[in-house]
Amino acid sequence: MTNWLEKILSKAKQAKAKISDAFKKIPLQNADLWNSCPECKKMFLRKQLKENLYVCTQCDYHFRIGANERFKIFFDNDQFEIIQTKNLPEDPNRFETELKKYKDQLKSAKRKTGQTASLVSAYGKVNNLDMVCSSFDFNFNGGTLSLQSGQNFYEACEFAVKNQASALTVFITTGGAALQENLFALYQMPKTILGVQMLKENKIPYFVIANVNIGGVSASFGSLGDFHLMEPGKKTIWGFAGKRVVQGTISEPLPEDFQSASHVITTGAIDMISHRKDQRNVVTNLVSILLKKSQSQEYNTENNEEKIQAVNQ
Ligand SMILES: [Zn+2]
Repeated sequence: MTNWLEKILSKAKQAKAKISDAFKKIPLQNADLWNSCPECKKMFLRKQLKENLYVCTQCDYHFRIGANERFKIFFDNDQFEIIQTKNLPEDPNRFETELKKYKDQLKSAKRKTGQTASLVSAYGKVNNLDMVCSSFDFNFNGGTLSLQSGQNFYEACEFAVKNQASALTVFITTGGAALQENLFALYQMPKTILGVQMLKENKIPYFVIANVNIGGVSASFGSLGDFHLMEPGKKTIWGFAGKRVVQGTISEPLPEDFQSASHVITTGAIDMISHRKDQRNVVTNLVSILLKKSQSQEYNTENNEEKIQAVNQ
């Protein structure tokens, strides 16, 4: 009887060990490498998602990616250099609520993204053209426009002008101006507009590619591009105030896809809906067209001046 019981117990122990080994072989430490699509809930290994440029293979949902991922996708062979900028005082209002201090929020955002602000800029080649690129990172305090982010964008414009870049492209995934910085954040609206003005005066094409473009960003440099591109999807947003605020203000029903790419394209606010895999080629093709046009305009101007001189002589 005892032998019989011991045999069963021993087999049970062996089975338990096997099950335990089998679970050990499953890389549980990789659990954080899984992502699910917010739209269709399909599960992806992060590696698969990265290979597909962070776009869902099932429903084409464009994930809200950070600046580093943007730069890696956009620049040739993942090669780019971050543009170093002047450090401005952070948390100028020493803002805090009962729940948390803004300073702590910034610390955690920096740790999470490895960036100094919600917008950073880089330069490199895109299809062999010299390109300056700025990008918001939604993981940094909801991609809000702060004193430092405005400075970073402005210095990117200066860099593009100084180095005669072929174009400047900004990727926008933002929650608008950083409320915690109050007027300091709102001052970034005219400042970034001056940056765009500098590009225009120097005939450097400026492209806006947006996933979420609202508030103080859409009311300033986010709507001043030579071309406005928007990523596809129901969860993309382009507007000033949110849908619920607009609905409450006008007390009228709004289309279901209000402010998403499929709706905004019908309003004329954007020029094109562009899939992430096409954005490099779309921008460089447009740059080629614009530069040829600008060269031919200069040529025509020179010709006209020659004609005027000839007539005057
Ligand atoms: Zn999906």
